[in-house]
Amino acid sequence: MQEEQITRMYRDMGISEGVYRFGAQIESRLKDRFDEIDRIAEYNQMKVIRAMQESRVNAGCFQYTSGYGYDDLGRETLEKVYAGVFHTQSALVRPQIACGTHALAVALAANLRPGDELLSPAGKPYDTLEEVIGIRPSRGSLAEYGVSYRQVDLLPDGTFDYEEIEKAMGERTKLVTIQRSKGYQTRPSFSVAQIGELIAFVKRIRPDVICMVDNCYGEFVELTEPSDVGADLVVGSLIKNPGGGLAPIGGYIAGREDLIENCACRLTSPGLGREVGASLGVMQSFYQGLFLAPTVVAAALKGAILAANIYEACGFGVVPDGKESRHDIIQAVELGTPEGVIAFCQGIQAAAPVDSYVTPEPWAMPGYDSDVIMAAGAFVQGSSIELSADAPIKPPYAVYFQGGLTWPHAKLGILMSLEYLVRKGLVTL
Ligand SMILES: *Cc1c(COP(=O)(O)O)cnc(C)c1O
Repeated sequence: MQEEQITRMYRDMGISEGVYRFGAQIESRLKDRFDEIDRIAEYNQMKVIRAMQESRVNAGCFQYTSGYGYDDLGRETLEKVYAGVFHTQSALVRPQIACGTHALAVALAANLRPGDELLSPAGKPYDTLEEVIGIRPSRGSLAEYGVSYRQVDLLPDGTFDYEEIEKAMGERTKLVTIQRSKGYQTRPSFSVAQIGELIAFVKRIRPDVICMVDNCYGEFVELTEPSDVGADLVVGSLIKNPGGGLAPIGGYIAGREDLIENCACRLTSPGLGREVGASLGVMQSFYQGLFLAPTVVAAALKGAILAANIYEACGFGVVPDGKESRHDIIQAVELGTPEGVIAFCQGIQAAAPVDSYVTPEPWAMPGYDSDVIMAAGAFVQGSSIELSADAPIKPPYAVYFQGGLTWPHAKLGILMSLEYLVRKGLVTL
C-alpha cells in the first residue's frame, strides 16, 4: 500500500513508470555505498558538534550586530569553530566574503607580493580564477600586481607530474594552489590523501612554500580535510558544502595564524584586519548550516552516486564512474550534445521547490569563457549545495551536477532529468 502511494506520487510529479522503475533498480544496488556515506556523515557530525562545544557556542552568538562590529561574539566564536573543524590555528569566516572566488582571491592577494610566483601543480584552476590570476587578462588581476603564474598539467591518467612540479618550483615560488575538486573539468577530483602526498613533496623541496587548497565542494566528503594533511590554507564557499544550505552568503579561509591575519588585512584593511566586520544577523544561519552540513553533504553524495550509476547505465561517460570513491559532491555526465545538456538541466529545474516553472537557457555568465546553462531552483541564489546543474556550452558537452539538501530531492531531480532526456528522445530505456 505504502509503495503504491509513493509510486503514484512520482507519477503525479511527472516521472513515468519506465523511468521510475529504471531508477529503483539501480538504487537497489547502492545500499552498501550509501551506508558508508552515512558513517562518514556520522563522524563529521560529531566533529562539528565537538568544535561547537569546545568554542562554547551559545545563544548570544546569534545576535544581530551592525556598524564596525567590534567584539562581535558571533563572528569571533564562529571563526574559532571553523578553526576547530579544520584543525587549524585560525580562520576567517564572514558574510563580507562574497563567494568562493572572492575567498580564493583574498587568500592569494593577501599572501603574494610583487615578484612572487604562484604555482598550480594540479593543472588549470577553476574558470573564475583565470581572471583572478591573470591567465585571462583582467582588471586587478595578480598579474597586474607583478605576481607571475606557472602551471604544471596533470599526467594523462589524472595524477600529479612530480618530475615537472619539481622543475617548476623556483626561487620565486611563494604559494602553491591545489584545487581539490574537478570543477568544470573532466579530470578526477583529488582525495585528501593525494593532496597530502603532493603537499609533502612540495614541502620537501621548499619547506617555506605556502600550500593552499581550494576546498570548494570537498568539505565533509571524507573523514579528514586537506588541513589535516599539511595544507597551510583551506578555502571555500558558504553557499556550497559548509553552509549546509542555510548560509545566505559567505566564504571561509582556515589556516595558519599569520596567513589568516594577512587575509584579514586584505579583506578589510591594513591595520583593521579581523577586528571589524559586523555579522548583520546572518550568524544563526552560519552556525546552523555548518551543523547540518555533514548530513547535507551525505544527501548530495548519494545523489551524485545515483546519477553516476543511472547515466552510466544509459551509456554516457560519467566522472567519477559509478563505482569510484568520491572526493567531492560533483558529478560530471558527458551528454555529448547541447540538446542533452539543456534537457538535463531543464529536468533538474523542473524538480525544484523554487522556480520550478521557469526554463533555464544558456547565457554569457560573467567569469566564464563560453555560454553557461544553470539549473537551480534554490532558496539561496546560485547555491550549489542545493540541487543544481551547470554546463558550459562547449565540447564535450558535459553537465556538472551537484547538491541536494535532502536525499529525496536529489533523487527526484535525477529521475526528472532522465525523464526529460527520455521525452526528448535522447535516451531510450
Ligand atoms: C565554486 C568554485 C569556486 C568559486 O566559487 P564561487 O562561489 O562560485 O565564486 C572555486 N573553485 C572551485 C573548485 C569551485 O567549485
